[in-house]
Amino acid sequence: MNNNIRRGLVLVISSPSGAGKTTICKKIIQEIDSIELSVSVTTRQKRKNEIDGKDYFFKSDNQFSILKNNKSFLETADVFGFSYGTLKKEVISKIEKGIDVIVDIDWQGTRQIQKHIPNDIVKVFILPPSIKELEDRLGKRASEDKKNFLKRMSEARKEISHYIEYDFVIINNEIEKAVSQIKSILFSERLRRHRQLNLNKVTNNLK
Ligand code: 5GP
Repeated sequence: MNNNIRRGLVLVISSPSGAGKTTICKKIIQEIDSIELSVSVTTRQKRKNEIDGKDYFFKSDNQFSILKNNKSFLETADVFGFSYGTLKKEVISKIEKGIDVIVDIDWQGTRQIQKHIPNDIVKVFILPPSIKELEDRLGKRASEDKKNFLKRMSEARKEISHYIEYDFVIINNEIEKAVSQIKSILFSERLRRHRQLNLNKVTNNLK
């Protein structure tokens, strides 16, 4: 018997790289209770300001394959020539305990999660306000060389084409506004009937 009064949800947030998604996700975690960020596994190199185990679990190709063979992933995808994956343990046990989980993943991973747990996910796509803004943001990342930058711009255009597969779309003109819009989505989704596990009891007491 599950004593939680609410089943957690998986807030999937996708966007082209450079649309401000990471900043938005971190703010949501800081400002709202009962929500955690799923830490993904990746085979890409760690960037200067990143911490292993906090931003990502950085693994070798071999380590990633082992996790995949052990069926540890809820989803995996190849992004920019590297492997990325969401660990089941980062998500499933948490939503069962009534904790919401934010997953910052691309459209390929979103499709896979949709297949596995369709009733638990809420899909949000973040768009940059303009292509110029996106270029500026990607160009400003010190860690990106020119070739990498152009590749990321082309990937960004591809990612944007998938916005139609999402439930909600937010245009990130201003971080604070985008964060507040995501909060509204989250607070409403928490109230969905199928996520409230004690309604029978509550309504019985109202008879
Ligand atoms: P970055 O390497 O810039 O942190 O992320 C590149 C892209 O990979 C982003 O669009 C991000 O959402 C996506 N990504 C990060 N982790 C995962 C994951 O676990 N699964 C999938 N499918 N995509 C991910």
